[in-house]
Amino acid sequence: MTDMLAGKVAVITGASRGIGRGLAIGFAAQGARVVCAARSQHKLEQTVRHIEAAGGEAIAVRCDVSKAADLQNLYEQTRAHCGPADIVIANAGGNFTRDSVEDSDIDDWEATLRVNLLGVYYTCKYAIADLKRQGGHIIVIGSGMGHREGGSGSAYSVSKAGAWMLVRALASELRPHGICVNELIPGLVNTDILSAGALPDESPLTLEWFKQPADVVPLALFLATQPRTGPTGQSFSLMRRDSQ
Ligand code: NAP
Repeated sequence: MTDMLAGKVAVITGASRGIGRGLAIGFAAQGARVVCAARSQHKLEQTVRHIEAAGGEAIAVRCDVSKAADLQNLYEQTRAHCGPADIVIANAGGNFTRDSVEDSDIDDWEATLRVNLLGVYYTCKYAIADLKRQGGHIIVIGSGMGHREGGSGSAYSVSKAGAWMLVRALASELRPHGICVNELIPGLVNTDILSAGALPDESPLTLEWFKQPADVVPLALFLATQPRTGPTGQSFSLMRRDSQ
């Protein structure tokens, strides 16, 4: 344990597995009190037990990011058990259809936007009042698919492109309050979201670094520890330059 984030409260959505779990463990190892949010209470508790076994502090709060009321409850629980949030990582995400626009199922298309775009909106919106108290950081986990077309289906790309614009809009709104808002693009990370064989052999993405969730932690820590005069409204990527 080191203390880069001592005294800080970090709320991380999608912390039950994958990248969010890796970020929760990495932030707790730097002394943050971590609020782990997702729908699966059982898996959240596994993340919390892992953190506690390593000497860190964390709580689990069940939360569906597509439901605004769940986010209001998340920050109420955060204030009650840990104090107001200093750092928010909007990480929860999913992809429910890779079909073309023409063939896509409307419910799946909408579900992708509800989690990846509205979920990020709710996660940020209800954090702002607390973050305004003494400044802070919002990190939105984005995707290269939000910056260029192709690969993961239209719904995912549109949802991530929307979240990237939300980062920039929020950065302008919140700059006077010392709140930095940035996007972190993890690139390919070995998690459940990448079903086996999802990438075609000829895909330029097969040249991409293939990372583990822990590999995303250093860049997230860098962003979360910048001063209030630090970067905001920017996108930071762990992808290779030629696969952007
Ligand atoms: P993952 O292993 O499938 O994890 C997704 C996380 O999001 C889980 O903790 C899941 O928890 C949570 N989640 C999904 N729907 C939710 C909802 N409605 N409410 C609350 N939590 C929800 O995927 P991952 O790779 O770690 O993805 C994390 C983020 O990275 C996503 O935003 C994804 O788009 C982005 N990303 C990933 C990659 C990659 O290569 N892995 C690349 C670019 C971007 P529950 O199921 O328990 O709710």
